[in-house]
Amino acid sequence: MIIVVSGPGGVGKSTVVAELLRRHPEIRRSISATTRAPRPGERDGVDYFFVPEQQFTDWIDKGRFAEYAVIRGHYYGTLKSTLDAVSPVDSVVLTIDVQGASSIKLLYLEAVMIFLKPPDVKELEHRLEGRGSETPDEIAERIRLGQYEMTFAKDYDYMITNRDINATVDIIDVIIRGISRR
Ligand code: 5GP
Repeated sequence: MIIVVSGPGGVGKSTVVAELLRRHPEIRRSISATTRAPRPGERDGVDYFFVPEQQFTDWIDKGRFAEYAVIRGHYYGTLKSTLDAVSPVDSVVLTIDVQGASSIKLLYLEAVMIFLKPPDVKELEHRLEGRGSETPDEIAERIRLGQYEMTFAKDYDYMITNRDINATVDIIDVIIRGISRR
């Protein structure tokens, strides 16, 4: 099963996915390639495959990506090899943006598409402003991107308001179990 999780930045995608993986050791996390620099604590081959732009574009030319997108000036992409290994008993979860998610749905009709919504968009925007690590322009750009991402929510199979991590993962559990039983 291919599970795609998207949502605006700051909604809690990575925390939700971490809890999903903790509960389901049989689910793998797709490791994307990216040209952005690693953040402190991030490891190559664990969090992402951190690659130079030249290598990324070479992989695009060679058709190695199932999807890729440019997000805030950096390339991000899911390698086909990551998805080729998926069987009914071996699930993979992709935490990717809305553009990448729509490409995945076109290629893999059976992909389960989940969109995480914040309980309160305005509150999320205030939280981004409060981080203090970015310039006002960068914050404005993040907020714009979040608003753009929200317009894609309707295209997903499931939309979950992430009020509480455990409750959100409980819902994803129900979705996955329902599909596995089909
Ligand atoms: P970050 O730089 O904060 O790790 O991720 C920025 C955005 O890129 C997030 O919305 C994340 O979901 C998205 N992203 C991460 N990997 C991929 C990928 O392989 N493909 C696409 N399309 N988006 C990705």
